[in-house]
This record gives sequence, C-alpha cells and structure tokens, in this order.
Amino acid sequence: MLTPLQPHLALLAALLGACVGSFLNVVAWRLPRQESIVRPRSHCPRCGTTLAWFDNLPVLSWLVLRGRCRHCGAAISGRYPAVELLCSGLFVAGLAAPGSSLPGAPALLVVVGGWLLISLLLPMVLIDLDQLWLPEPLCRWGVVCGIAITVAAGFSQGEGVGRELLLWHLLAASAGLLGFEATSAIGQKALGKPALGLGDAKLGALLGAWLGLTGLGLSVMLAVFGGALFGLIGLLSGRLKRGQPFPFGPYLAGGGLAVWCAGNGFWLQRFSDWLGWGAL
Ligand SMILES: [Zn+2]
Repeated sequence: MLTPLQPHLALLAALLGACVGSFLNVVAWRLPRQESIVRPRSHCPRCGTTLAWFDNLPVLSWLVLRGRCRHCGAAISGRYPAVELLCSGLFVAGLAAPGSSLPGAPALLVVVGGWLLISLLLPMVLIDLDQLWLPEPLCRWGVVCGIAITVAAGFSQGEGVGRELLLWHLLAASAGLLGFEATSAIGQKALGKPALGLGDAKLGALLGAWLGLTGLGLSVMLAVFGGALFGLIGLLSGRLKRGQPFPFGPYLAGGGLAVWCAGNGFWLQRFSDWLGWGAL
C-alpha cells in the first residue's frame, strides 16, 4: 500500500482513471456491436462527426457542451461522464488497496494490478446492464491477467511462496466457476428457469483468480447482500416485476472491487460486526 496517500499521486491516478474511463465507455459500446475498439476514432452516433480532441476530454467536454453534440445537438448520455468519474475515483481508491489477496507483493504491482482489474470489470458491468450478458473474451482475459498478477506477486518472493499463492488462486478460480455453475444448475431444477447466467460463473472464476478464496467468498457475500437489497427496493418501488431477470454481474463486480480496494480484513471485520461473528 502506498501510504500516506500523496496528493500528487492521487491527482495523477484521478486523471489517468478519467481517461481510462473514457476508453472503457467506448469498449462497452463497441464490444457488443463487434466493432473495433481502436478505429474509427470517437464519433457522434447520430450525425457521425468525428470528435475533435477538445470535445473528447473526460467529464469536462460533456460539461462544456452541456451533454449535447456540438454539431447536431443530439443528447449525449450522462452515463459517459458518470463512468469517467467513477473510474477516476476507483483509480484513486486503488492506490490505497492493501493487496490482501497478494500478501507481500510489491506495492506498485498491487496498484497497477488493481487498475487493470478495474479496467476489466467496469466494461463488463456496463455491458451486463445493457445486454444482460457478460462478454466471454473479457472474462477469459480477466482470468489470465489475474493468474499472471498472482504469479508475478508470488514468484517475486521466491519459488515456494509463488507456488503456494498460485495454487490457492487457481483453486479459487475453479471454486468460483464450479460454485456458480452448480448454483445455476440447482436453481434451474428448482425454478424451472435459469436463475443465474453462465457469465456469472466465468466472472466468479475471474474474481477467484484475482482475489483468492477469502476474497471470492467476501465478494459473493457482498454481491448477494447488494443484489437482495436492490431487488427488494426494485420490487417495492415497482421498477422491477416479480420474476423479471436482473443482472447479477454488476453486484459481483462491485463486490470484487470493494474487496480489492478495502481489503479482506476490512470486510471480515464489517461482517463480524453485522452478523455478530465474535470469533473473527
Ligand atoms: Zn452529432
């Protein structure tokens, strides 16, 4: 952990996060449409005009243009600056991540790894919200990256540590995949319809690869609490109908990011307070 949080580092992380967030907006729009994420440059979806650099600055351009295209006046969704701000905030939070799933890892590796994890999970959340679908390539690359970071963190401390950490994270990735697939199969039998998408199992594998068993367990608990809470609010407010599917991916990803940024110890303490687990 890079402590104390130095202001210039935080500012740098915030700026980088906003720029990455801007790119992730593009990824979330283009990936489901099978468009290239690098070409062509950003353009207005209505009039097709390519955006000049000064109309493409994260958050600022949207504010200056008051959420409208300079050329045709088409409304630009407030989701774009919101995602840029969120990514910016998460990058700053990533600076303080204790790296509890990678004990003893170099601080820089934990920070850069966290930024990578955020950049993988954010577009998955956006795509799942839009399409109720978690893109397979992002899940697969997410698992590969998680294992690579684990290898780098472990083997930089010697072969013994490396092997043990790798084993635990591979085990957690398998547990994530199989646990969700089993839950999905049981739900299918009990309810007669899919209760969980198979994408959720792949996201479970990704979180296991990054967070290990404890982190995966905590993420799933946070996701279940979050999902149940929002599901209840949705039902009570009438925005969600009974039996209407809603994406679980965003809750899982949110749980994973909360666990990464605040650390296992923080959440174990919270859960022990909430649930009265005196022994933890
Ligand atoms: Zn336009």
